Amino acid sequence: MCGIIGYIGNKPALNIALDGLKRLEYRGYDSSGILVLDNKNSENGGKYNVFKSVGKIKNLETEIADSVVAGTIAIGHTRWATHGKPSINNSHPHSDCKKNIWIAHNGIIENYKTLKKHLEEQGHRFFSETDSEVLAHLIEEFFSHNENLEESVRLALKLVKGTYGLAVVSVKEPDKIIVARSGSPLVLGVGQNENFVASDVSAILNYTKKVVYLDDNEIAVISGSDFTIKDLNNEPRKKEIQLIEWTIEESQKKGFPHFMLKEIFEQPESIENSLRGRLIVEDGLAKLGGLENVTEELRNIERIIIVGCGTAAYAGRVGEYMLEEYAGIPVEVEIGSEFRYRKPIIDKKTAVLAISQSGETADTLEALREAKRKGALTLGIVNVVGSTIARETVAGVYNHAGPEIGVASTKALTSQLSVLALLTLFLGRQRNMSLTMGKRIAEELKEIPQKIKIILKQNGTIKKIAKKYKNSKNFLYLGRKYNYSIALEGALKLKEISYIHAEGYSAGEMKHGPIALIDKNFPSLFIAPRDSVYEKIMNGMEEIKARGGKIIAIATRGDKKIARLADDVIYIPKTLEMLTPILSVIPLQLFAYYMGVSKGIDVDKPRNLAKSVTVE
Ligand code: GLU
Repeated sequence: MCGIIGYIGNKPALNIALDGLKRLEYRGYDSSGILVLDNKNSENGGKYNVFKSVGKIKNLETEIADSVVAGTIAIGHTRWATHGKPSINNSHPHSDCKKNIWIAHNGIIENYKTLKKHLEEQGHRFFSETDSEVLAHLIEEFFSHNENLEESVRLALKLVKGTYGLAVVSVKEPDKIIVARSGSPLVLGVGQNENFVASDVSAILNYTKKVVYLDDNEIAVISGSDFTIKDLNNEPRKKEIQLIEWTIEESQKKGFPHFMLKEIFEQPESIENSLRGRLIVEDGLAKLGGLENVTEELRNIERIIIVGCGTAAYAGRVGEYMLEEYAGIPVEVEIGSEFRYRKPIIDKKTAVLAISQSGETADTLEALREAKRKGALTLGIVNVVGSTIARETVAGVYNHAGPEIGVASTKALTSQLSVLALLTLFLGRQRNMSLTMGKRIAEELKEIPQKIKIILKQNGTIKKIAKKYKNSKNFLYLGRKYNYSIALEGALKLKEISYIHAEGYSAGEMKHGPIALIDKNFPSLFIAPRDSVYEKIMNGMEEIKARGGKIIAIATRGDKKIARLADDVIYIPKTLEMLTPILSVIPLQLFAYYMGVSKGIDVDKPRNLAKSVTVE
């Protein structure tokens, strides 16, 4: 999620680190920091300077101003907060108690609470609220026994559960950077009498094109002249040096032509991050730390109102169906801009759940404030840690989906849906949901990232289908039950990034009006997985077919029947009915993307739209 940069060589390291962070800013922009260490052989060997600042990298640049720092070793970090608000204290690099060992970490340490408690019992003092800081103290603990930084990092990582891209330096061994990876990317840059480490190559391409990608469970020790790579069991690993041909811009997008496409392809990973540490499959439970302080209140609520705008409101409607069916709680969905101006009936037994990627959506925020005034329990599902909605709700669940740069929401939506499924499990098991059902949902949810990978393999097919329909001026998107909302979302995505008029409708309602529009030039897209409303959806398809309308269908793998009715079919794997929206929306995102691209639209920044709508 965040960006890490490290430099070791013979040049002043501060500006190289700052330059790297600027290029990594798209990965996180809550706060940033750089630690510069003087090389062992210099007259100040082992001295350090640290710079930190909240907000964009330009604030860090101002903080550094004209500082002249001679040190030739540096680690830097631009943060996308997951644990603890964006603040100076929570900014990386973090240190141990004695400020000897410094770390920059990307990822989530799942078992940080247990480790922190243990370390505090040993006398360690913590300076931040982050999960990451435990790494510095854990390394310190081992170092106090073995006085060997590399070995201490290795032993510490053996105790860690979660994901990390990690860079560590120590004033006690000022001639190396130790880096390690598990789940979060890291790449070494190989220079002449200097070496680099970064979260992605865009940070170092100005200095070298020679790189070595680290794999999971590898530790590297980097000096100015050399590097070695081992696994966590101390066995050496042989790695190839690769030559990078990408431009800086291409590398920020991981080689994808747009952030939107990159983010669509990132969904297996972003959902994995949303679920990380939160599913206890064998007990059919969801563990949601952010709701711990309201567990008892949640037992007693009698109604939930979900508020959101745009895509987040569509996620909310899927949530409504999930929560009513499996947790037995009455749910209503409201769009923020409506809720705040009518006179909604709310009481102390009502929870109002705000869904917002940015956590700053003005209409949702005002709706939330209105709910608070009326005494509701306020909850949030938010991607940006420390955002206004996150701060103003009593409790909530973070998405941990990482920064979303493309204006049209993709990975934020599937993360919201995954978190709503977790919430359903959490509230359902508090109420009447059986262990068997709980396990079923947990097992299926865990499989979702894998199933998305299968859908993404059809990228080429979807591109071809989009090409075929690129001159259509109108589209009707149809779905029922859990996929009704996804029909609305698919139509919204198409409008947003291809400027083609599209309507989303409940497939059952289609015959009450929109069917009048259908002719051979007005295609329909049906979301028709094999679920409890499959037969009903098929009736709708027959009706469109009878009127000469073209049909694209999203169907369950193995469904041969559908190909007889639809002109084009995109298949998704089978899953639990309530989870199908997380799969069925993926082809719709890709379809909209290719429609937009074929019309030459800048899909990352479509006209008239803003990423986070902070105005009324
Ligand atoms: N979990 C860490 C934090 O909240 C690292 C987040 C990141 O990857 O930026 O500070």
